[in-house]
Amino acid sequence: MRALTYEGPYRVGVKDKPDPRIEHPQDAILRVTCAAICGSDLHLLHGLVPDTRIGSTFGHEIVGVVEEVGPEANGIRPGDRLLVPFNIACGACWFCERGLTACCENSNPSSDVACGVFGYSHTTGGYDGGQAEYVRVPFAAVGPERIPDDVDDLDAVTLTDALPTGYQGAEMCDLHGGETVVVFGAGPVGLFAMKSAWLMGAGRVIAVDRVGYRLDFARRWAGAETLDFDTVDVVTAVKDATGGRGADASIDAVGCEAAGSPMQRAVGVLGKAVAGSSVALNWCFHVTRKGGTVSVLGVYGPPFNLVDFGTAMNKCQTIRTGQCSVKRYLPRLLEHVREGRLDPKALITHRYPLEQAPHAYHQFAQKRDGCIKAVLLPHGATLH
Ligand SMILES: [Zn+2]
Ligand SMILES: [Zn+2]
Repeated sequence: MRALTYEGPYRVGVKDKPDPRIEHPQDAILRVTCAAICGSDLHLLHGLVPDTRIGSTFGHEIVGVVEEVGPEANGIRPGDRLLVPFNIACGACWFCERGLTACCENSNPSSDVACGVFGYSHTTGGYDGGQAEYVRVPFAAVGPERIPDDVDDLDAVTLTDALPTGYQGAEMCDLHGGETVVVFGAGPVGLFAMKSAWLMGAGRVIAVDRVGYRLDFARRWAGAETLDFDTVDVVTAVKDATGGRGADASIDAVGCEAAGSPMQRAVGVLGKAVAGSSVALNWCFHVTRKGGTVSVLGVYGPPFNLVDFGTAMNKCQTIRTGQCSVKRYLPRLLEHVREGRLDPKALITHRYPLEQAPHAYHQFAQKRDGCIKAVLLPHGATLH
C-alpha cells in the first residue's frame, strides 16, 4: 500500500509499505477514506517527539471502512464505516472501566505515562497511523464508533480528536454561566474549544493568536473577540478588558511550539534543552484571575518545561489538563453535530490526495493559503 512516511526532521514522503494485517484477535483492518493532519503531527514533523522512527506513518485522526476483522473483534463487520479515536484503549483495564481511555494501561508497553496512540512515535506504542491506504486498528470493538448515515466523513473525522479535545478543554473550565474565557491558539482545537465554551454558557470568549486569517475565522465562526499577540501585550489587554481582574478561565490550545518569547523558542524549540516552549501556558497563568481555572490541551512532551508555576500557585488557580478520552464524549458530540449545534467540517479548508501529503504538511505547517485544517483522502475524493 501507499503510506506517508517520516524521513527525518521536517521531511515526510509517500512510499510503498507492506499492507497491515491482523496481528491480534481483536484487530481490524480499515480502508482509510479520510485522515486528517493534526497540529500535533507538526510536533512529530519537527522532530520534537522522542523516538519518532524513520519510516513510521503518522495519522491519528482516521475515518474508514472495515476491510477485515479478527475473530474477537466482536460486533465489528466488514463494510462498517467507523471513526477511530486517537487513543488506543483496551476497554477492560482499571482506567478504561472508568471512562479514562486516554489512560489505558494495556495499549502502550513503552510507557506508563501515555496510552497507545496511532502514528505518534514509539513513546506511544509505535503503532503506524492512518495517513495511508490501510491501517491496523487494535481493540477495534472498543474505541471506534459506527458513523450514523446522516454524518459525513468530514464531520466524523473531527470527532476522532480535535472536536472532543476542544470540548474537553471547555468542560475542564467548569463553566456555570457568564464567565470570560481566553483561548490561546485559533487552530482547530482552539476554535472547537471556543464553540464549546459558548455551548457551556460562557459570557465572553477571547481568542489569542498571531495569524490574521485564523483570528478572522475565530471572530466569524466562533463569535470570539480577538487579540493579536504580535501587536498587543496580551496580559495587559486581557486585564484591561476585565476591569483589571483577569479572565475567569483560560485554555492553552497551543502546546510546546508556542511563539511569543525568543528565549523560550531558543531554549525549548530550537535548542531542545527543555521539552519545547511554554509561553502560551505561562500567559494562561497571567491572564487568568486569582482563583480561576487554567485548562491545558496543548501537547507537552516530558520531562520538563520552563513553566511559571509560582504565579499559578500564588494566584490559587486550578490547573486541569490531559489527553482527551475521546470515546466518552462521542454520544454527546454526535448529537450536537446531528442537531446542527456544531458544524465541525467548516474547519476543513483543504483536501489532498495521499500522494500530495508532503505538500499538505507544508501548507498546514506554514499556515499558507488560509489553511485551518487539512485532510488526506487516500482512496480519492469519494467521501460518504
Ligand atoms: Zn490530533
Ligand atoms: Zn484499558
